[in-house]
Amino acid sequence: MRDFEFPRTACLIIGHPCDPFAHPAKEGMTQLPTPRGVLTPDRSLADLTWLRVGGPADWLFQPADEADLAAFLGALDPAVAVFPMGVGSNLIVRDGGIRAVVIRLGRGFNGIAVEGDRVVAGAAALDAHVAKRAAEAGLDLTFLRTIPGSIGGAVRMNAGCYGSYVADVLEEIRIVTRDGLVETVPASSLNLRYRQSELPDGAVVVSATFRAATGDPAALEARMLDQIAKRDASQPTRERSAGSTFRNPVGHSSTGRADDTHELKAWKVIDDAGMRGATLGGAQMSLMHSNFLINAGGATAADLENLGEDVRKKVFQSSGITLEWEIMRVGEYLQD
Ligand SMILES: Cc1cc2nc3c(=O)[nH]c(=O)nc-3n(C[C@H](O)[C@H](O)[C@H](O)COP(=O)(O)OP(=O)(O)OC[C@H]3O[C@@H](n4cnc5c(N)ncnc54)[C@H](O)[C@@H]3O)c2cc1C
Repeated sequence: MRDFEFPRTACLIIGHPCDPFAHPAKEGMTQLPTPRGVLTPDRSLADLTWLRVGGPADWLFQPADEADLAAFLGALDPAVAVFPMGVGSNLIVRDGGIRAVVIRLGRGFNGIAVEGDRVVAGAAALDAHVAKRAAEAGLDLTFLRTIPGSIGGAVRMNAGCYGSYVADVLEEIRIVTRDGLVETVPASSLNLRYRQSELPDGAVVVSATFRAATGDPAALEARMLDQIAKRDASQPTRERSAGSTFRNPVGHSSTGRADDTHELKAWKVIDDAGMRGATLGGAQMSLMHSNFLINAGGATAADLENLGEDVRKKVFQSSGITLEWEIMRVGEYLQD
C-alpha cells in the first residue's frame, strides 16, 4: 500500500466508521484507508437494489465528497477490487455478494446546475430529478424522466428511451480513476453504444455535463407526464424489477442509429416461447410485460437469474434466437 495521509475527523469511538481500527483487513483484503465518508463492512446490498435481492459487499463505501473519494481510492491497495453502483435499477446482485469495495455515491454528489443550454448533474442525482430540473429551465432532457436510475448509471449504461439516449446529449463526464485522480473525459472517448460505454477500469463517474435542446417548460412537462402514463400502461412500474431483462434480438436492437429496426422485440420471442408469466421460486416473467423479470415476493437472486436462463433456453429452442441479458448480474453465487 502507498503512503498516505487522510483528512480525518476526530473520532474516539471504538468501532465507529471514523475509527481507523474499525477497518481491519478482511480475509484476502488489506487494511483499508479511513475516509471521511461511511465505510461499512459486510453490508447487505439487497435493500440498495430495485429487485431487493443480493448478498453483502465486503465493504460499502459512501464517500462524503469528491475529494474524499479521490483520497480513498488513491490510498487503497490497487489489488482491492472496487465496484461503483448507482441505485441498483439495472442489477442482479448475486446471493453470495460482491468481493470488493462497493462505492455508492450519495448526498455529496447529487447537485444539479443549469448553465445556459448545459445541465451539470452529480452522478448520484436521479435521472427523473435531472429531467424535471432541466424542463423547468426550458431544456429538453425529458427522456430521462421515466428511467429510474442515477446519472452515474445512465452514463455507464448509455440509458435511453423513446428514441433518445444519453449519447445524444452527453458532452463530458468527470471521473475519479481507480488510482484516485480526478479527470474530465469527453463523451466522444466513451464509445457509447446500446446500453454500453467504455469507462477506464474501476473509474467512478462523479458528474456529467449534458447539452440539451431548448423547449417550452409547459410542453416539456406535458411530454414527461405523457411518458409516465405510457409506462404505467405498458410496464409493471410498481413491481420490483430491473427494467428490460433482455436486449431486443441482435439486428433489431435499438442502437440509436437512424437505420435501426425495431420489428422484433424480446417480449415477442418470450411470448412465442410460452414464457410470459413463468415462475421460479419468487421470480416471475411479468404477466403485464414478458420482458420484465420481477421479484414477485421472496425471490432470491438465484431464482431471478435461473428463470432468466430458462427463458433464454426456451427462446433458443423455439426460435433459434439467443437472447442477451440487459440486466447486469454481478457478484458471487451462494456456496452450498
Ligand atoms: C422499471 C424500470 C424501467 C427501466 N427503463 C429503462 C429505460 O427505459 N431505459 C434504460 O436505459 N434503462 C431502463 N432501466 C434500467 C436502469 O434504470 C438503467 O440502466 C439505469 O441507467 C441504471 O442506473 P442505476 O443508477 O440504477 O445503475 P446501477 O443499476 O446501480 O448500475 C448499473 C451499471 O452502472 C454502473 N454505475 C452506476 N453508477 C456508476 C458511477 N457513478 N460510476 C461508474 N459506474 C457506475 C454500475 O457499476 C453498473 O455497471 C429501467 C429499470 C427499471 C427498474
